[in-house]
Amino acid sequence: MMVDQFLWAVWINLILTNTASSKTCSVCGYKADLTLEIREWECENCHTIHDRDINAAINIRDQGIMKYRRGLPEVKFVRNV
Ligand SMILES: [Zn+2]
Repeated sequence: MMVDQFLWAVWINLILTNTASSKTCSVCGYKADLTLEIREWECENCHTIHDRDINAAINIRDQGIMKYRRGLPEVKFVRNV
């Protein structure tokens, strides 16, 4: 049950937010200006070397954890009649 709720929070985060998760340093929060071709980058603030996809996954996970701790959003599915 707990895992399901956590995965739901991560999923909701993916759908409802529009954050630059791959461009935001998962260590210090610095937002880098990256083009799509750059797959590995060094944070100008804390000098951590990031794999872009792994960094994005860490940010999405952390945002999901924060949302889970704050409480899950209520989602209603509306059916057109
Ligand atoms: Zn950083």
